[in-house]
Amino acid sequence: MAISTEKETLRNYIGGKWVEAAGTETLPDIDPATGDLAAEVPLSNRSDIDAAVAAASAAKEEWRAVPPQQRARSVMALREILTEHREEIAALVTADMGKTLPDASAEVQRGIESVEAATAIPHLMKGENLEGIASGMDVEMVRQPVGVVAAITPFNFPAMIPLWFLPFAVACGNSFILKPSERDPRPAVRIFELAAETGAFPEGVLNLVHGAREAVEGILEHPGIDAISFVGQASTARIVATRSAESGKRVQALGGAKNSLIVMPDADLDKSVPAILSSSFGAAGQRCLAGSVLVAVGDKARQDEVRDALVEAASELVTGPGDGADTDVCPMVAPDSRQRAEDAVTAAEKAGDEVVLDGRLGGGDPGTFLGPTIVETSDPEGQLAREELFGPVLAFWRADDLDEAIEFSNGSRYGNAGSIFTESGEAVRQYRYGIEAGMLGVNIGVPAPVAWFPFSGWKDSIDGDLHANGHDAVEFYTRKKVVTSRW
Ligand code: NAD
Repeated sequence: MAISTEKETLRNYIGGKWVEAAGTETLPDIDPATGDLAAEVPLSNRSDIDAAVAAASAAKEEWRAVPPQQRARSVMALREILTEHREEIAALVTADMGKTLPDASAEVQRGIESVEAATAIPHLMKGENLEGIASGMDVEMVRQPVGVVAAITPFNFPAMIPLWFLPFAVACGNSFILKPSERDPRPAVRIFELAAETGAFPEGVLNLVHGAREAVEGILEHPGIDAISFVGQASTARIVATRSAESGKRVQALGGAKNSLIVMPDADLDKSVPAILSSSFGAAGQRCLAGSVLVAVGDKARQDEVRDALVEAASELVTGPGDGADTDVCPMVAPDSRQRAEDAVTAAEKAGDEVVLDGRLGGGDPGTFLGPTIVETSDPEGQLAREELFGPVLAFWRADDLDEAIEFSNGSRYGNAGSIFTESGEAVRQYRYGIEAGMLGVNIGVPAPVAWFPFSGWKDSIDGDLHANGHDAVEFYTRKKVVTSRW
């Protein structure tokens, strides 16, 4: 098996072999902390997608016939090898995407937990039956794989998000094609190398195709692909969902976010502030669960107390490279991403908003560093309050009471996640009932559900019905067949 090495042009993995892409153009995979070139990423074209679909289609009948408990053992072998190589994959995440090493290690662990959850597939895939629905008649429902499934994934979790989909898809008996983010594909390459090393998956069951828009369009239009899992920006999610629906494919397209964190008057700030900082500035705000609007509830004195505590603690955070021992806030993935976030802060300031903590450092070298920034905004519908900036920028908003805080939060087009900080069970109940978001935290800043539960938001944070992970993953990757019998 060929191992892809740094600065080489990466290869696709198709039909059990590492092969050069037919597409001849490449994009650079850059280390965000240094600007160094890590690898060239091929822009695969439609003939690369054709080859991957042909390999996946050729493998699907044999793989489907493998007993579920044996497929579960293959997934267990993947779990073992990923666990052995966890820190090595994490180092690639840091080098490619930029996040800190502990954060990257936690990401890989979360991915491994999805693999663990998929090992329960014989139980998760079981059907249902009902005896005697009429005289001498029984009914049973069985779940069967959908066939060939593809996943298109974003840059911000280059190991975990491919692992949300791969293990459930193949455990259900499907063949799988991954199109990882073109910005940081090396963790996915390593995961596929390790999967190949297990020898647990027949050729063609797992395929990886590098690329960007043309590769995605090839996936969306290919008649041999039955279902698509997507994670990325809301605008891309909408394109993927629309085009998949037009070509008759099953689709789950998870989009962007603008999550609010509500701090109630009774919240314990000593405990809440560290959780808020980690939510808003961890991974430089490049998480779909990042808290990007802080809503301080109470009278003006309490709101000021919350604001001052946040500014004081955030000003202590260290911005630096992901492999720096002291780094709290990592670089952003690329200079243009940082510039966009910085421009939003500058525009808000010009419009009269108060920058209460200014992290605009000029980007440093190579132009990817933005320090933690807090802006008290006065425009409830402005960029700071409503647009996903995907950087270490926290908007500060004041609300008199919880009703007002929930109403403000629900004004977002997104509904991915949200958190409340309080000591009051009554407030939590009201929040849980009224907030329009799919993943909620109570005194937790990053409310990531464990892999046995569904992961996704509401509103423009998803196009499609079934979420990632948990039983939803099994529903997405299987088709139900109902047999009514008379004997
Ligand atoms: P992105 O939409 O730019 O890219 C995602 C994938 O789509 C990549 O593989 C990319 O190659 C492809 N792509 C990009 N533009 C395309 C186009 N015009 N046509 C076809 N394919 C295209 O997203 P990103 O910047 O890599 O990731 C960050 C985004 O992902 C943020 O908005 C974040 O909130 C979101 N995200 C959401 C979740 C969630 O669970 N809802 C989780 C992680 C990230």
